[in-house]
Order: sequence, then structure tokens, then C-alpha cells
Amino acid sequence: MSGQVYRIIESERLPSQVGAFEFYYSRRFEMAAMACACGCGHRVMLNLLDQHQLIVEEGLPTITPSILVSDAPCLSHFFVRCGEVEWAQQWSKKMVDNVMQSQVRRHVEQDRKQTAKRSSMRRFVDWIASWFN
Ligand SMILES: [Zn+2]
Repeated sequence: MSGQVYRIIESERLPSQVGAFEFYYSRRFEMAAMACACGCGHRVMLNLLDQHQLIVEEGLPTITPSILVSDAPCLSHFFVRCGEVEWAQQWSKKMVDNVMQSQVRRHVEQDRKQTAKRSSMRRFVDWIASWFN
């Protein structure tokens, strides 16, 4: 236990390099960049619009749900509560891949649904327009 905690650094732009236990938060873009808790130096990006929720208390971040570092070899999985790291269950590469694939699939399905909605709207508009031709 290092006793180190993450501290919020408010910054409109997020840096490409993040030092140990630095937690950059962009209020404007609702994004955060933090150093991976394992110390590997990987920058973890958090999307605070629809993936994670950030609560700031006295400059210390609490993140829900847990953070899974799926894009670095360490595959770290942890919680941040009041700036402190709480390790969660370690995931295997296979588990991460499965989740990523199902997320990608969900996004593709959402896109498809939106496209379908748009094209049926388009048809409706064409149908209305046909009355006036
Ligand atoms: Zn790491």
C-alpha cells in the first residue's frame, strides 16, 4: 500500500502524458485522463458522459463504475474512491475481448437502428411530399 491518492487537476485540455496518481478532469468536454493505477504509465481516458460518473469531494475523485484498462497490457481493473485505489477482480484478455466485442456489437446495432429510423422518416417525408406533386 503506497498511501498515494489521485487528486483532481482541472484542465480544459487533457495531456497526452499523465504522471502517477494524476487525474486530469475537463469539465468542458466531460472527459478525464488518469494514470493507470498499476504504475505502468498508461494514460486511461474516461468518458464521463456515458461511461463513468465522477464525484469530486475535496479535490478527490470517486469514479463509478469500476475502471477496466482494456487498452494496455496490464488489463488493470480497479475502483477509485475518494482518490484511493481499490483493486477489483483481474480480468483475462479473453474476458476483456468478449466484453469489447459485445460493446462494439451494441454500438453497431444502435447505429443500425438510428439509420433505420432515419430512413423510415425519410420515406414518410417523401410520402407527404408526394401529395403535393
Ligand atoms: Zn497499468
